[in-house]
Amino acid sequence: MTAKEYIESLRKLNLKVYFMGEQITNPVDHPMIRPSMNSVAMTYRMAEMEEYKDLMTATSNLTGKTINRFCHLHQSTGDLIKKVKMQRLCGQKTAACFQRCVGMDAFNAIYSTTYEMDQKNGSDYHARFVEYMKFVQDNDLTIDGAMTDPKGDRSLSPSKQEDPDLYLRIVEVRSDGIIVRGAKAHQTGAVNSHEHLIMPTVAMKEDDQDYAVSFAIPSDAEGILMIYGRQSCDTRKMEDKADIDLGNAEFGGHEALVIFDDVFIPNERVFMCKEYEFAGMMVERFAGYHRQSYGGCKVGVGDVLIGAAALAAEYNGAAKANHIKDKLVEMTHLNETLYSCGIACSAEGKRTLAVNYQIDLLLANVCKQNITRMPYEIARLAEDIAGGIMVTMPAALDFYNETTGPYIEKYLKGAVGIDTENRMRILRLIENITLGTAAVGYRTESMHGAGSPQAQRIMIARQGNIEGKKSLAKVIAQIDDSKNKN
Ligand code: SF4
Ligand code: FE
Repeated sequence: MTAKEYIESLRKLNLKVYFMGEQITNPVDHPMIRPSMNSVAMTYRMAEMEEYKDLMTATSNLTGKTINRFCHLHQSTGDLIKKVKMQRLCGQKTAACFQRCVGMDAFNAIYSTTYEMDQKNGSDYHARFVEYMKFVQDNDLTIDGAMTDPKGDRSLSPSKQEDPDLYLRIVEVRSDGIIVRGAKAHQTGAVNSHEHLIMPTVAMKEDDQDYAVSFAIPSDAEGILMIYGRQSCDTRKMEDKADIDLGNAEFGGHEALVIFDDVFIPNERVFMCKEYEFAGMMVERFAGYHRQSYGGCKVGVGDVLIGAAALAAEYNGAAKANHIKDKLVEMTHLNETLYSCGIACSAEGKRTLAVNYQIDLLLANVCKQNITRMPYEIARLAEDIAGGIMVTMPAALDFYNETTGPYIEKYLKGAVGIDTENRMRILRLIENITLGTAAVGYRTESMHGAGSPQAQRIMIARQGNIEGKKSLAKVIAQIDDSKNKN
């Protein structure tokens, strides 16, 4: 699809979306939603541009056709590296979350997991999923890869919750399909997606088998309702002449709470139905891919933030100060460290039994663990460089007002020769990424997206091979185990 065709395709969906107490009848043209749609549209637009074709497109292993890389099943470590580069590029061009990666990461996790499920159980989930992937690739769809359940009392497993719907579950199995009930929380890009692709949220035991479920369903299917999430400073998008105040007027991201109120899923779209012993594998693989993803997208947004900080320094007349130069070096060092992690877990990727490629799990978790920290430091340094004016500056409407405008023009002037409005714009961009609507993606999502920090520490503990490292130390220190009493 072209970017335009993508936007038009969303008009055809009969989505049920609620925001701020009202049902939104036309999400496509809603000023709050449209910027996030524009970010997804960039994944289509750039795929059409000659200079980005190598990164933005790939050859399908299923059909041999050229497809958007966001619909691709990675066929090599080279593909995994290109994925991260593509995400950095998209982050640079939108300075926001462009949302389409969750689907891509779900495709790859479900593809390999269903293959291994079928090998063990003789089921036909993989063949169903291959058919689904052909449909997605041929139609160039955007899919919301949905994992996170609301989870209720974190000390209780899915089946032990007071309310059994706090994890999405199968409430009925019929001969032609299943009925599911529950919700998926903070779903990135849900309102901009043609379909939802559901996965379980945790590893499960036999008691939880009704919760071990994976399926795909159109976003406007009967029984699906989406409640659009609030973001810091979001209503600025509804204001008249707020372009300066927005910082990033064209792009954004969004999350939604997606409700599944007894939704029917036909058998051909069911990819796991109670095979609880494979829930953990699907979760781990999806999380691994999405932790890799952050080594691309957050780095791209970081590039914009570093550039904005450098411009703010220039517009303040402070660019030559040594401490400013050093802070920019530090921001670059941190940002490229994150990129190195994204590239490393890709380069160390391995082939799965289904023959698509999987990232190195340990390195992907190290990547995401760093993401829970370093963007915060990059943001802190950007705020340091920007100065307090970033959060005390008058509104755009005061700049346009004939009484106050000239005063703002005069007193907010920075370095000689620099236009006041340009200075305001760059400060607002830094505000947007560090405190405003894009801060959802750059800060709190860096913390909790693709799993909160503790989730990575569990994986690092599991993958870190401490026993192997102990053996190394024993050899070097010439330890004689027989001399130890236990
Ligand atoms: Fe893609 Fe990053 Fe948004 Fe996840 S957070 S969907 S990886 S842009
Ligand atoms: Fe995310």
